[in-house]
Amino acid sequence: MVHIRSIGVIAAAGAGLLTVSACGGHAPSKQARPAAGKQIVAKQAPRPAGPPPARRIDCARARCVALTFDDGPGPYTDRLLTTLRRGGARATFFMLGENVHNFPGVVRRMALEGHELGNHSWSHPQLTGLSDAEVRSQIQRTQRAIQQASGGVTPKLMRPPYGATNKRTGRAIGMPLILWSVDTLDWQYRDTARDARVGVKEPRSGGIVLFHDIHKPSVDAIPKVLDGLKKRGFTFVTVSELFGGRALKPGQTYTDNVPPKPSPPATPVPAAPQRPGTPARPEGTARPGIPAQPQPATPAQPGTPAQPGGSAAPSSDVAEPGAPSPGEAPEAPPVPEAPPGR
Ligand SMILES: [Zn+2]
Repeated sequence: MVHIRSIGVIAAAGAGLLTVSACGGHAPSKQARPAAGKQIVAKQAPRPAGPPPARRIDCARARCVALTFDDGPGPYTDRLLTTLRRGGARATFFMLGENVHNFPGVVRRMALEGHELGNHSWSHPQLTGLSDAEVRSQIQRTQRAIQQASGGVTPKLMRPPYGATNKRTGRAIGMPLILWSVDTLDWQYRDTARDARVGVKEPRSGGIVLFHDIHKPSVDAIPKVLDGLKKRGFTFVTVSELFGGRALKPGQTYTDNVPPKPSPPATPVPAAPQRPGTPARPEGTARPGIPAQPQPATPAQPGTPAQPGGSAAPSSDVAEPGAPSPGEAPEAPPVPEAPPGR
């Protein structure tokens, strides 16, 4: 059954790793054989000391999607990294601090291979039920664990467990809160074929897709997800890349980054950007539909600017925030597959 396959893949993963360090990447082969002696002197690019530089991808033009993986790292995460590397895909990992200690090498590899490292709390509590001090502790312990394991990377983004947050909690977290536009429900179905089908069909340009790398069927589905989305023309970006490197606001929730329609509506937008306390419409990212951040003092939302053309994202957004995560709810406790801790 499936287990046999996984052993093979793990072995391949190991081999893949060696290959990378040995051949130093994808240098075009024409440059590989110049005058013998000289070229040897030319320094081989040294092993990367840190993460690769951020890429500049214009997601207003390219068809971007951000795959995100929650609750790890776990026993399958290293294999997932190999899959992503083979597919030329970068992803974002929202990790639990309590799991980071068990897989420091995997976290380091994530960073070196250009993935984004995100904070998913220390132990996956519903943060809205904790005191501010407890919330801060969940966040900061995890930040430290990831920094240590990764060799100095400080996560900039946070995903609250179950997508559960509110104004007070958001303030205590003090980081941008990244939710999702596609909930694959992989934690619930644990079905590779289904995960692949949903993962290929549902994403829209600018979307953020939620998977869990602590579940083997989810990780098994990713090769097909990558293939299918590539055929649909998608580029795989990290969440920060999806937002074009823009600074996201602490405490604000984001579910996707649907590019603004090329031709803005002729409708006058009444005095929107001026208001000092109007965080709701920066760059059209803060989605109008985000329930978690009601923004009571923001009447100026008539034009619904971010949502032109009834485009993509909302379709499957369903899973959203305010309601204690349809998305991930029971995922954590009943993991039969032996991820650490739960
Ligand atoms: Zn989670």
